[in-house]
Formats: sequence, structure tokens, C-alpha cells
Amino acid sequence: MTVTLHQGDIPPTLHFSSCVAIDTETMGLQPARDRLCLVQLSAGDGHAHIVQLKAGQYAAPNLKKLLTDPAVTKLFHFARFDIAAIWTYLDVLTAPVYCTKIASRLARTFTAHHSLKTLCSELLRVDLDKQQQTTNWGADLLSEEQVKYAAADVLYLHKLKEILDASLIREGRMKLAQSCFDFLPSRALLDVAGWDKEDIFEH
Ligand code: MN
Repeated sequence: MTVTLHQGDIPPTLHFSSCVAIDTETMGLQPARDRLCLVQLSAGDGHAHIVQLKAGQYAAPNLKKLLTDPAVTKLFHFARFDIAAIWTYLDVLTAPVYCTKIASRLARTFTAHHSLKTLCSELLRVDLDKQQQTTNWGADLLSEEQVKYAAADVLYLHKLKEILDASLIREGRMKLAQSCFDFLPSRALLDVAGWDKEDIFEH
């Protein structure tokens, strides 16, 4: 595994194939309050790119172009949160997206556990270290542990997608999963607009 740290944006020469794994790190769990600090990316080739974003410096034209490229699927785990953070700080609604958590919920109904750590452990036999989960991502200088932890969150998503896609096809739920992925940007907008605690489909 290798990691490249970029300041403020990805270089214009950096290209990903038709599917890029993405994760974000923020100051906390409330997009309106907790600013976006990192965007991690991987083409699924074992290499991760980390974009460090300083407070108020969210121009990042190359990153925004990638996030809105209709030819590139953005692969997340719990996309709902990342899409809201990206919308709030980068001012773009990223699409099309795929979410390994939604895929797992639809394909793996025998379990209630769909965290990234659980999926990596059960589907890939990879043990994700979650020790840096509550670290300060807004620090000017990131530690080696922070960089490694942030990168790990995007390195396995392509492999998970491959396995989850096979399960979704086997269970006849691929079309339903795709409809859910297509709805995710709207779900994130509902969160930002104040419907985050409310399920509007409920009676
Ligand atoms: Mn993460």
C-alpha cells in the first residue's frame, strides 16, 4: 500500500477509471458544524490519494470535476454522510454513487452488522484498525497513523463491491440496490435540509 498526500486539490493529471473509492474525514458528525478536512481516493489498485483541505479553502476544481463526472462511479461506505459533507463544503452534489453499506443491508439480511470494519473482516479477512476514528482531522500536520488510517478506508471498497455485487445479483436485488444508490444524493440533501432524523416514508 502507498499513499500520496495532496494539498487543496488533486493534480489535473491524476485520472481514475470508471469507479473511484472515496471517503471523507471531518471534524465531527454534523456537516453544518463540522468542516470537511480530508477526501481520500483510490482506484482500487492499492494506492490511495489523500486531499487535505484547509478551513475555508474549498476551491478544488479538479476534485469537483471528478466528483461530478457522470462517467465515474463514486464508491463509498455510508455514502449518505460523505455526500452531505461534500455538498456542504465543496458545493457539488456527487453522483453517480455506490454505497457498500446499502449493498450489504440489501444482500446480507442474515446480519445486523454492516460497518466497514465488519465487512472487511467477514468478506475479506482484513482487520481494519479503527483507533484513529476520533482523531483531530483538522490538524495542519497529520501524523503517519492518521494518514494510514484515512487511506485504509478507501483501499478495500472495490473488493467489497465485487463481492457485494455478486450477492445482490444472486438474491435478485441489483435493480433495487441501484435505485437506492440513485436516491442517495437526494437522501443526503434531505439530511442537510433538516430531515436527518425523520424517515419521510414512515407512516
Ligand atoms: Mn473514514
